[in-house]
Amino acid sequence: MSRTWTIKILMMAIVIAIMTQSGVQLYRQRHYQLEHLAGPGVTRVEQLSKYCEGLKGTMADTHVFWLEGKEEGGKMLLMANTHSNEPAAGLTALIFLENAVVEKGTLIIIPQFNNSGSRGTRPGDGYPLYFEIPTEWGAKKFRMGNRDAAPLDQWPDPDVYIHYPDKQLLSYLDIRNTNRTWPGRPNGTLMEKVTFAAMEILRNENVDLALDVHGAETMFPVTNCIVAPEKSVRIATMATLTVKATEGFDNHVEPSPQGFRGLSHREIADYSDTLPFLLEAPIPFLDQPTGPKTEKLLLDGKDPFLLKLAKHKMLFVPYDETGWPMAKRVGQHCSIIQEIAKQYSQRNDERAIVITNVPRYGDVVANGVGHYFHDPSTWAKDKIYLN
Ligand SMILES: [Zn+2]
Repeated sequence: MSRTWTIKILMMAIVIAIMTQSGVQLYRQRHYQLEHLAGPGVTRVEQLSKYCEGLKGTMADTHVFWLEGKEEGGKMLLMANTHSNEPAAGLTALIFLENAVVEKGTLIIIPQFNNSGSRGTRPGDGYPLYFEIPTEWGAKKFRMGNRDAAPLDQWPDPDVYIHYPDKQLLSYLDIRNTNRTWPGRPNGTLMEKVTFAAMEILRNENVDLALDVHGAETMFPVTNCIVAPEKSVRIATMATLTVKATEGFDNHVEPSPQGFRGLSHREIADYSDTLPFLLEAPIPFLDQPTGPKTEKLLLDGKDPFLLKLAKHKMLFVPYDETGWPMAKRVGQHCSIIQEIAKQYSQRNDERAIVITNVPRYGDVVANGVGHYFHDPSTWAKDKIYLN
């Protein structure tokens, strides 16, 4: 065999070895199952496919947890991991799932809203495959997900994404983004089916409040805020003012743009009677000019480049050497969610939603996120849902 052929075969073998090794890692991550512990408040568990047949048997199907109070009242839907690369949202939802007790009304939780998006990350951008939250009984391991659904589950992408029903032209990638496919349709793409199923819950169950929990870059103006359409602005404003006065953290209200379609707060407002809110907490990990995208940066939000930018007043949130630890972000979400429910309940006695046993900002900052997660080995097996 000639020398050239030997080199070619050797190179080919190296490429196949690298592809196999990384392929196995990505396959394992896609199929890694997280344990969702249903807490004392959970009264029933459904699949999202109950509300849209086309989701059955797909990677987009996901659990819907119902926490129904003894006393009838209003209903609130909490959605997390619309974008699975913004993990403070999912951690917040699991704190509610494991701990919340509903005294009046109903809390509906979808912890893994874009389930497909959580089953793949961005290896090309150097994202970690997993991250771990320390707890008193050991580390709880999570998949690090992506903003969009995995191409393995919805493919191919069009050149331009034409939003339904508005026909607005959006970026091709947003056809796999469940914060661009609202209000969805039962016979559309897989992600349109996900948002359609959620719309069905809101409309059929007369849900009062819908909270879509996210994270946003510190260099992006729409961060550390509640995005609210006209009809939700009053409650959102009262919530931000109250947490500022009583708990001391900043949060502001951003109006939901009228002409930008597909977003949860826009389409839920226009296609149902529900009051929608989108919650953003800062996530330095997603900013472009940072150091390596490590698990540490994801959890503590400390970055020297952002610190420099903060000194030049180029960030939209306060930023110093302490970064933006996960506990602060999750704590903010916990308080804002409870405050929105409280503000709504004060004005709608018949439709009140009273939730107890969930920590607020100061508790999460003091005790850490992991303090609120229970040891699965001590939990009833039939109350653990794999996702
Ligand atoms: Zn997001």
